[in-house]
Amino acid sequence: MTDIKSLTPAELEEEVRRLGEKRFRAGQLYGWMHEKLADSFDQMTNLSAAFRERLKEEYELVSLELVRVQTSAQDGTGKFLFRLSDGNMIESVLMRYHHGNSVCISSQAGCRMGCRFCASTLGGLKRGLTPSEMLDQIYQIQKWSGERVHNVVVMGTGEPLDNYDALLRFLRLLTGEGGLHISQRNVTVSTCGIVPRIRQLAQEKLQITLALSLHASSQEKRRALMPVANRYGLSEVIDACRYYFEQTGRRITFEYSLVGGVNDHEEDARELAALVRPLNCHVNLIPVNPIRERDYRPPDRRAVINFKNRLEKSGINVTIRREMGRDIDGACGQLRKRYMDMEKER
Ligand code: SAH
Repeated sequence: MTDIKSLTPAELEEEVRRLGEKRFRAGQLYGWMHEKLADSFDQMTNLSAAFRERLKEEYELVSLELVRVQTSAQDGTGKFLFRLSDGNMIESVLMRYHHGNSVCISSQAGCRMGCRFCASTLGGLKRGLTPSEMLDQIYQIQKWSGERVHNVVVMGTGEPLDNYDALLRFLRLLTGEGGLHISQRNVTVSTCGIVPRIRQLAQEKLQITLALSLHASSQEKRRALMPVANRYGLSEVIDACRYYFEQTGRRITFEYSLVGGVNDHEEDARELAALVRPLNCHVNLIPVNPIRERDYRPPDRRAVINFKNRLEKSGINVTIRREMGRDIDGACGQLRKRYMDMEKER
């Protein structure tokens, strides 16, 4: 069955025509799915009963099943565990900031990138998500909270550029007219650094922010943390980021997870500053979230602040990621992982 929620407005018009319905029905259908966030064809009350039956026969209307929500008593952050129609589990996060609500979505069920400190990669890749499955994380969370989603970050489980075509379609549906119509400037895609795909994305001329997971300032150290660095060297990655900026005018965000005793030395800060200074960029420091399966630890608070100060003195824009939802399996992929481990033990 065709996944109707992943179709563009033009494709939907084509389908509607094929079914012998008037063209404006496509717009109504699109609005029901992407603006009113309907979960069933039966909700689409201005379409004839016969047309709705036809739709049910021919199309799948993807709607994620919310399995669990954990909300932080500290800061209102919510973690959402969803089950996909094939039984795979994914998680998403709602963060409430004073400038609006952000949703962090997953782009794949599992991940094959193998970053050493990350919980999402431990079980490997199950599959890439469809555009509709990426969208519906946002739709379900918006409905659950009753509040509008302003920002979307593709920073949950999975490597978005390892699911490129679905990602692009998702971005167009999310930011296009007739749906939630979120501004491209309010969307961030985070990648571990798949160079050819970064270059391809640059050519799409979108106004989204690219976040590059750097985590080390030398090729050698990066390779020890991120297997993807064996495929694409540090200088290639930096060149691709420069190219992204040149093509889009969008400032790059570098993410740097600080791991105590591994990449938090004075020397690391100096090297990092020299590496990124030539770029129009921003550095986001994330004290590593410890996961049970590895013994990486965050540096103590003072070391984090020292690291930040050193970068600032070298003229780098830098922020420390606010740690939200520490009381609710804060670290990436941990809710999903815990749930899956529990299922296995049963
Ligand atoms: N695959 C993409 C997006 C998902 S990961 C990427 O690599 O960018 C989102 C961010 O969280 C990445 O910067 C990733 O390196 C980081 N991350 C993963 N596990 C982490 C942990 N335990 N502590 C801190 N940051 C982590």
